[in-house]
Amino acid sequence: MTKTRIALLVLTVGVLSCKQLACAAGPTHADQPIVPPAEAISRLKEGNGRYTSGNPQHPHESSEERTYMAAASYENLGMTAAGAATRRAELKRSQHPFAIVLSCSDSRVPPEIVFDQGLGDLFVIRVAGNVIDDQSLGSIEYGIDHLAVRLIVVLGHQRCGAVKAARETIAAKTEAPGHIQSLVAAIQPAVEATAKEDLKATVDANVKNVAQALRSSVPILKSKVDSGELKVVGAYYSLDTGAVSFLDEK
Ligand SMILES: [Zn+2]
Repeated sequence: MTKTRIALLVLTVGVLSCKQLACAAGPTHADQPIVPPAEAISRLKEGNGRYTSGNPQHPHESSEERTYMAAASYENLGMTAAGAATRRAELKRSQHPFAIVLSCSDSRVPPEIVFDQGLGDLFVIRVAGNVIDDQSLGSIEYGIDHLAVRLIVVLGHQRCGAVKAARETIAAKTEAPGHIQSLVAAIQPAVEATAKEDLKATVDANVKNVAQALRSSVPILKSKVDSGELKVVGAYYSLDTGAVSFLDEK
């Protein structure tokens, strides 16, 4: 059985299951396809594997799609040419991202690239130090409530400048200039919990704090986490290797 046939079979089973369940746990817009958390994590791991092995597919990017259509090589992407044309048409009207990624603004950590994803695949929030405020939390809630996303990844990274600056600012008992201080304040609990450890320990602690804050966020996220409908996982991106390691998959 080819990969495409397996994918179609999985898709068919998924559609049947959804119909049988009447999408009872569906989003505000009931026609949104739902990608379960475990499958979303698998897609991200596979994409990062392609990226680190130097074999990215750059899926779902317009110029690539045209090239693949011309070469009729959509088998590589598990998508037919007709499917690709349909996807572009769909994206004009709506979006169906399968994961939310809250990552640092660092220019070396763009989620779409490190997970080898394309247009319409990821709903991305980027803030220095991958912390949350009301606006970014509202963006995440929109992705969960309206777009039916079932996985949130909080992505920290090696040698994070925001976390490093927070450690240094707090150690010097001073304040960062301007609004940068708001980032320091958000990262402070992780800095205090890892005062005698290295930068990576603080990055990991910060990711875990933010992930836990999302899991316990009311009124939208907590109930979905508690019911198992939504998963929030922390992850760490290595600048050295390009690899993303998932810290926990609760
Ligand atoms: Zn950073």
